[in-house]
Amino acid sequence: MLVLSRRWVSAKAWCAPCGQQVRMVTADEAAGLAGVSSRTIYRRVEAESLHFMETNEGRLLICTNSLAPDSRR
Ligand SMILES: [Zn+2]
Repeated sequence: MLVLSRRWVSAKAWCAPCGQQVRMVTADEAAGLAGVSSRTIYRRVEAESLHFMETNEGRLLICTNSLAPDSRR
């Protein structure tokens, strides 16, 4: 069970690999959701095992669809 004490900062955005609107979160939030360090998130982004996009401000947003537990090993 995940209990999020913080409000979601990010809204839904189009994810090309998913082909649908998905919820995008920051790397830190993604790390919290997946229960890993943000370093692991960045490594998974580099390995392209996570969907991501960059905002105009250069902030990395992670597709929560690709973070889903059933996509993890
Ligand atoms: Zn996606």
